[in-house]
Order: sequence, then C-alpha cells, then structure tokens
Amino acid sequence: PSFAELGLDPRLVQAVAKQNFEKPTLVQRKAIPLALQGQDILCKARTGSGKTAAYVLPLLSGILKRKSTDSTPFTAALILAPTRELADQVFKAIEQFSAFCSKDIQAAKLTENVSDAVQRSLLSNVPDIVVSTPARAWHNINSSTLSVDKLQYLVLDEADLVLSYGYDEDMENISRSLPKGVQTTMMSATLTPELETLKSIFCRNPTLLDL
Ligand code: AMP
Repeated sequence: PSFAELGLDPRLVQAVAKQNFEKPTLVQRKAIPLALQGQDILCKARTGSGKTAAYVLPLLSGILKRKSTDSTPFTAALILAPTRELADQVFKAIEQFSAFCSKDIQAAKLTENVSDAVQRSLLSNVPDIVVSTPARAWHNINSSTLSVDKLQYLVLDEADLVLSYGYDEDMENISRSLPKGVQTTMMSATLTPELETLKSIFCRNPTLLDL
C-alpha cells in the first residue's frame, strides 16, 4: 500500500510526500494500520527502519481526528526516549509531519539540558504531544506541571535502552500515574527478556511485530 492507502489524515500524507518518502517502509506498513485500529504494539525496529514515522503518524492522525470535533486542550501523547539525541530527532520528525496541520498540533520536548522554568512554561501551553526522557517526564508529572490524566498514546522508543540506562524506577512511577486504556507502542532494537517487565506494566495484549 501507499501512504495514502494506510488510512492516515490527508494532511499527514501531504507532509510525507513533501519529505519525498515514496512508499512506506516495512515497519510503517505493518505498524500504522494496527496503531490506527487502537492496538498496542511491541515492535522490533532499529534506527533507519522508519520506526519514528511508524508511531508518530498514527498518533498524529488520531489527535487530528479528535480535534475535528473536540478542541479541548490536553496532552494526548507521551513519547519517551532514553537519550536527548533521540528526543531531538523525534521532536524534529513531529514538526516535519505536522507541516500541514501545525495549528492543530502542539508538541513540547523535555530533556535534561532544558531548565525547569523553561519546561514549566512549555507545559503551561498544554501541548498535545510531549517528547521526553523518562526522568524529565516523571519529574514534571510528579510536580504536576505535566498532566497525563487524559493521555491516549504512550510510546517507548528504544525501550531496551530505557532499561539499560537505568530508568526502571521512573518508568514504574510513570506507569502508576497513567489513566487506564492508554494505547502503547514499544519500539526496541532487540527483543530481550528484560522487556517483559515494561511490556507487562504498559501494554494490553500487544501485537508483536518481530520484523
Ligand atoms: P528512523 O528509523 O525513524 O530513525 O528513520 C530513519 C530515516 O529514514 C529518517 O531520516 C527518515 O526521514 C527516513 N524515512 C522514514 N520513513 C521513510 C520512507 N517511507 N521513505 C524514505 N525515507 C524514510
């Protein structure tokens, strides 16, 4: 299928075309339709596979669909990345994919190099999407500067690294503050047994994509 046939909002298809993506990669072809159906996904995917678009496009599409009838601002998506570099890349991808719907999508990035005051001011605008390291996300949830009460989408990118970098406690704290029914996508370069803990904490019967 082409991007246009995957069921995404047309403004996203337009943005993908602008970036000269000719056709969806394997992980995009597999993950996007499942995510649009509301499924939790555990996906083996490495950098270069197109994994970022595979989870960003469907959650953007879902947020745009909701906003067409309900414009109340709330943070609908939390994307957790183990490093600042990855958070930067993901944030940039969101900006590019929202090129034709930038008025409808607000995103904020929280990383260790951004001061508390700046993080608070970014969050006071109630972004639709927050891209963060686990530590910064928990810090802001715990201090009530980030509300996840109405969260709909959670992404754990490079989930294997989230664990090896020692974010276990932040992840447990975050999981306890999430509402029920959050749709979760886990992306991981390796499918190790250690991922089972994260999977059991965050996922509801996920579809495994071992590509
Ligand atoms: P990622 O695996 O998400 O880090 O993406 C790796 C690179 O592939 C990024 O620079 C993307 O812009 C690019 N990319 C992602 N999807 C496609 C696609 N369908 N066609 C061409 N390039 C793509």
